[in-house]
Amino acid sequence: MTTNTAPPRVLTVAGSDSGGGAGIQADLKAMLALGVHGMSVITAVTAQNSLGVQGYWELPADAVRAQYRSVVDDIGVQAIKTGMLASIELVETVSGLLADAPAPVVVDPVGVSKHGDALLAAEAVATVRERLLPVATLVTPNLHEVTQLTGRTVTDESGMLDAAKALHELGPRWVLVKGGHLEGEAADLLLGPAGETHWYRAPRHDNRHTHGTGCTLASAIAAQLAKGQDMPEAVSNAKAYVTGAIAHGFALGSGIGPVDHFW
Ligand code: PLP
Repeated sequence: MTTNTAPPRVLTVAGSDSGGGAGIQADLKAMLALGVHGMSVITAVTAQNSLGVQGYWELPADAVRAQYRSVVDDIGVQAIKTGMLASIELVETVSGLLADAPAPVVVDPVGVSKHGDALLAAEAVATVRERLLPVATLVTPNLHEVTQLTGRTVTDESGMLDAAKALHELGPRWVLVKGGHLEGEAADLLLGPAGETHWYRAPRHDNRHTHGTGCTLASAIAAQLAKGQDMPEAVSNAKAYVTGAIAHGFALGSGIGPVDHFW
């Protein structure tokens, strides 16, 4: 009997996007494209399409806990990524589970979708700050999420560095501040455990079909970590992957289409 070697295993703890562009669906596609075995703990189900999020329903905390235990206790994981966590109760549940995570944890601190739909209750932001960030190996906020988490408004690269330092003090080992919403080049800043900085720069693509960008980047980083890359290398490779996925993003429905995971 042949026994084939299993690929590295990566777990996403996130919400479902019925339109297939973001959330769990984007995570699993990115993982497939990058050669790892993707697994999921679903936290919430969204009714969603290219026009926005029409509604969402959280899963009970017990269901989230049970999915996590099923996967981690038997199959095992080499990296974990979190996305939409919706409520205080689910942020607390997931933070508790991840406190003794067996693998690096990439936290995408999802707050609001590109269309402005809230994916995290406003009152849960403090719980993300106080419970989830301390168990993160890496946190990957965009500039809106930086403002939500730190109260800072970032308008330039020196502001990105100050914000990264403020986030670092909340407990994550690494911080990646994504500057994609600033004018000009798309620059991201990685701040490491010893205060080291790495800037990642990519040309900006004039493409409005960018749904799922944040989910895809965090999953791609988790996939590269699971393959054994160190953090700066994992971020560099994940950023190159997402830059291509954005360049190939395509129209679906009448609104904002998804990035292309298989470009
Ligand atoms: N839906 C879900 C379930 C998500 O997790 C996210 C982002 O993390 C989004 C939608 C938003 O995606 P975008 O802002 O790229 O449109």
